[in-house]
Amino acid sequence: MAVDFLPAEIIRKKRDRYGLSEDEIKFFVSGLTDESISEAQVAAFAMAVYFQGMNLEETVALTQAMRDSGGVIDWSKLKLDGPIIDKHSTGGVGDKVSLILAPLLAACGGIVPMISGRGLGHTGGTLDKLDSILGYNTQCDLESFTNLISKIGCGITGQSPELAPADGRLYGIRDVTATVESLPLITASILSKKLAAGLDNLIMDIKVGSGAFAREMSTAHNLAKSIVTVANAANLPCSAVITDMNQVLGRTAGNAVEVREAIEHLTMKGRDDRLMEVTITLCRKLMVDSGLSKNAEDATNRLEDSLSSGLAAEKFALMVSEMGGPNNFVDDYDSYLPVAPVKYPVTPEHAGFIQTVDTRRLGLVVTELGGGRKIATSPVDYAVGLTDI
Ligand code: URA
Repeated sequence: MAVDFLPAEIIRKKRDRYGLSEDEIKFFVSGLTDESISEAQVAAFAMAVYFQGMNLEETVALTQAMRDSGGVIDWSKLKLDGPIIDKHSTGGVGDKVSLILAPLLAACGGIVPMISGRGLGHTGGTLDKLDSILGYNTQCDLESFTNLISKIGCGITGQSPELAPADGRLYGIRDVTATVESLPLITASILSKKLAAGLDNLIMDIKVGSGAFAREMSTAHNLAKSIVTVANAANLPCSAVITDMNQVLGRTAGNAVEVREAIEHLTMKGRDDRLMEVTITLCRKLMVDSGLSKNAEDATNRLEDSLSSGLAAEKFALMVSEMGGPNNFVDDYDSYLPVAPVKYPVTPEHAGFIQTVDTRRLGLVVTELGGGRKIATSPVDYAVGLTDI
């Protein structure tokens, strides 16, 4: 029988720096999910955790309780021929890695069920980028999504209410109560969804720099350590790579412009060295960690072959058409992506060398122009973007 507690006593205990037991955390998450615990109490709990933190045991218990607030995908019954793998980025400006990485790994034999989010503030979200593709349905139900994954090996969709619903409510409350920037809450939020997706292996891309949540290397290290330790404690093999966000990743920032750039990389019509280095590094590590490749060299060769043979681009094309988009998207993407009616060249007033980039402000320019959200319900203009940056 479930143990009964008083929500206010749990909040008081955390406020006063005491550790919470697994049962107390389970009780709180169950009330968070069925809404028997009020929004005010959830906000107070989040603020108490924000200030007092959580130890490893508490963070693992919170992560697992949030995972168990919904279902966990069981891939074993589908008898898929490859490891279930995924990558998660802590968010940046111009970060279109997921759009290249998911089909590329699928082309190398990985199974990639990617559940992504929307952008808020200055960072872009993979779902908004995909929403710029005419017809692409980013709200695929879980059954159709798992069918699609078993058919083509990769798919990218939005969070379903069936997976980690506790995180959906908690994140919404944290977002409006200045409690997002908490290591245990970020860790539990990201990992509860990844554990619910039934992964065999996860790699984290922790962004550091002026365009990232972690501005300082020490914050990025702490975040990486927290996520990797908690994931491993919850039986999800996980590693992390810390990558630079002191400049935009690739040459574009926006939605449709980033989809274009991703396709140009998948079809090898364009190549930004930093974007490809980040993508290949994440893919390679995941392939070796999951046993898909015997070593880094083998992984690199297979990744390069999948790009040059066109197989990775083919996987992307299949994913788009299976998700409701056009059948010939990769061959004719310009016909299906919105184009800005006004293009304005911005050039420096004086000749010189760029020493630093305020990446966050570039992200905010995209948001200001309508390409991102100021509040969660803002509409997005998918044609808005910066190019040649
Ligand atoms: N992304 C998430 O999914 N959760 C957080 O708390 C922060 C970033």
